[in-house]
Parts: sequence; C-alpha cells; structure tokens
Amino acid sequence: MTVRVRFAPSPTGHLHVGGARTAIFNWLFARHHRGKFIIRIEDTDVARSTRGSEQMVLDDLRWLGLQWDEGPDVGGPDAPYRQSERVERYRKVIDELIARNVAYRCYCTEEELEQKRKAAEAAGRPPHYDLKCWIHRRNDDAPHAIRFHVPDDGDVTIDDMIRGQVSWKKESLGDFILMRTDGLPTYNFSVVVDDHDMEITDVIRAEEHLTNTHRQVLIYRALQWDVPRFAHVSLILAQDRTKLSKRHGATSVSAYAEEGFLSDAMVNYLTLLGWSSPDGREVFSRDYAIEHFSLDRVNPAPAVFDPQKFEWLNAQYIHSMSAAELRPLVARFFDAPWLEEGIEVVKTSVHRLTQFREQLRFVIEYAPPDIDRTFAEAVVNELRTNGAPHDPEQFKAMTERLKSATGLKGKALFMPLRLAITGLDHGPELIRAIPLLQHASEVDPTVLSPLERVKRCIR
Ligand code: GLU
Repeated sequence: MTVRVRFAPSPTGHLHVGGARTAIFNWLFARHHRGKFIIRIEDTDVARSTRGSEQMVLDDLRWLGLQWDEGPDVGGPDAPYRQSERVERYRKVIDELIARNVAYRCYCTEEELEQKRKAAEAAGRPPHYDLKCWIHRRNDDAPHAIRFHVPDDGDVTIDDMIRGQVSWKKESLGDFILMRTDGLPTYNFSVVVDDHDMEITDVIRAEEHLTNTHRQVLIYRALQWDVPRFAHVSLILAQDRTKLSKRHGATSVSAYAEEGFLSDAMVNYLTLLGWSSPDGREVFSRDYAIEHFSLDRVNPAPAVFDPQKFEWLNAQYIHSMSAAELRPLVARFFDAPWLEEGIEVVKTSVHRLTQFREQLRFVIEYAPPDIDRTFAEAVVNELRTNGAPHDPEQFKAMTERLKSATGLKGKALFMPLRLAITGLDHGPELIRAIPLLQHASEVDPTVLSPLERVKRCIR
C-alpha cells in the first residue's frame, strides 16, 4: 500500500519550528517510502484561523522546500483540503454515528455542564459527562451538540512508531463532543474523518496529540474504519528545558529566514532535532536524509533547540556553497554589481546571509585613517606605477617594493597598508581585499579604488 501522510496545520500565524519539524518528518517519511505528502488546513477554529495565515504557512513550507503532492493550490483526488469546506461531510458521518447508536444529541447548556463538573469535582469523581442526554435520548431541534458515547470496551492500545506501546483505560474518558452547538466539528472528530477520507496510512504529529489518540481510535472503531499507524514526535525544548517560546528568541520559520538562515540548513537542523543519522553525520543533504530517514531512529525524549549549533550548521552550508550559488540568496538582503566577488572574499567569516552586508561594508564605506604621510605617498606612488595587484604573485612583488621604499616590514608594513586601503584594522586578507576593491571600483562608481583611497590619506 502506498504510504500517505499529512501535515495538518491550523492557520493561526506563521509556521513555528515545532510545526516545521513535524512537516519535515512527514515529508522525509513520504519521500523515503515514495509515498504522498499531503497538506490539510485545519481551520475550523474560525475565531483564530485566517486565509492570510494559511498563505503564510504555505509560503513557509514552500520556502523550506517541502513540496506537497496534494493540498491547497495543488488539489488532488480528495480536494478540498480545508476543513471549513468539508462540513457537509462531517454532518454525514455524524448521521451515521447516530444511526449506529454511538453518538447522540446533547442538549445540556454550558452552565449546566459547568455545574456538573463542579459537583463531580467536589465529590471527588472524575469530571466526566453524567450521561443525562445519553440516558434520555431526544431528537428535537433545540440547540444541541453531538456527543460520542464511550463504549464498555473502550480501552485502547496503540503501537506508536516512536514511543512503542501506549495504552488508555476506558475510565479515563467521559462521553465527548464531536460537533459543537454551532455545527462545527471538534478536532478529534474532523481529524478522523479527514484521515480516513484522505486514506492516510501514517499519522506523524506532535506529542501533544498523543492523548487525543484514545478518542480518535474509538471513533475509527465505531465506524469500522481502518486505524492508521501513529507516530508522536517529542516536544522541542529551549536550552533551559522549558517549552521553546518567543522569549527564547525567534521561533518561526520566517523569522529565521529573515535572520539569514538557509532553507537547506534549517531542514538539516530541524531533522537533527530528534532524528539521528545511522552513521552519525550531522551535516547532510536532503537526499541523504530521504534515503536514510526512519521513525525508529527518532528519539522519544524531548529535543533541545540549540541556536549556536544551528548557526554553526548554517555556516557550514554557506562555506560549502559557491559565490554564484550564494549570490541570489544574499541579494535578498543586500545587492551590488560586485556582490559575487565580494561574497567570494568574505564568505568564510559569515554565519548568516544577513552578515554579508556588514562584512562587505568596507567596500562601500571608507573613512581615511590617520597614517603617516610619507608612507601614504609611497603607497600612492606604488599603485600609480604598478597598478593594484591582481594575484598573490603581484601582491608579493608590491610588498617587496614597498619594503625597500619605506624600510618597513612585517606588521609595521602590513597594518598601515591595510588601514590605508580598507580603512579597517581587521577584515579579509589584503591579498583578496585589494583585487575586490579594484574590481568593485571599476563596476560601481560609488566604490573608491585602492589608489583613490590611499590618496585621501594624504592630508
Ligand atoms: N491541527 C493540528 C495542530 O496544528 C494537527 C493535528 C494532527 O496532526 O492530528 O496541532
């Protein structure tokens, strides 16, 4: 049977790293098994869901490169893939559950239910529904919700692909709501209907849904539908071992994109939050991850998000890419006609795409430093006579000539030379900075050539 998995975001804002990791695991699993990766929008929480958020989530998934096979903007045999467009279908299934005598109309009001909960609590009983509307079944059209009746054989055991056997006792559940008074389905109900209709074989989702699985399996059984396999992925914690949240820094995929992280690095890093490769490697391509991904290598313990490690990994990607590959990515943040040459010169000191601007600031900005006038004259003379050196050999010849002209050597020669040309006491090697500045000044009238720069030091 073809593997079919889904990622089912609730469109209430940008995609967060936790959701992104769940999406990545689903995508890797689908690609590994040559199956289908489906996106379903769980938008029945009308108060919080918006089309704008949906587009944001889809854009984030596209940016991550997680192309889906069925879902919004793509379609597929089971479209629509938005729960809000499937309400008719949920109603039909409700009718079927009522006909099977496993669901019923519940006319109890919120206030009534609240009172019952309080009474149960005071008496030390579990806060389960007292079955009033189950015992006195009604069928009139007064406002009502639909409840599921937990059967006597309501114990459930699943074989979670990450956590192993997980069991629940019938007693841990009371009769629960399938459809609210407003006619909208609850999450536990719609998710079962959707996963069944979309022929989902493997449900890979966040650990927070593990306890929901008890209710969901009971609904599958009541409808005599096949139960999918489940895999519940652990939480992502911050380094202080609390749940990752805004106060720990960026948590959304788009915020990391804005901070100059690469999509490949993000997919790689989030894959490492829980999964480990069979040969222990940490920097790997998508193809490698697809080839080797399996749920039995996903750790059931919480994963810890380590921003320094993520940045380190991002740097590995930047350093291994060519300037031509990096150029379009960097151009999102900063562009210049000499950008590619500039990237080549500074990329090894960059961890994030946004840092190229800072690293290349010396090309755009130049303030003449305070250096010895005779020294500056000697350099001007050298550059006028021989031009700016283009390669290591010419650079070496230039420094030899400057050595004899000034009587300086080593640091005493190189420091003022670096200052005069770049305006900085740090930065890329001169041997690379000089040809960059020369080239940039030829293609960009706002850039001063090495000669122009040193001339300005003579005051
Ligand atoms: N819409 C749910 C969420 O965003 C997903 C539920 C599921 O995967 O079953 O948490």
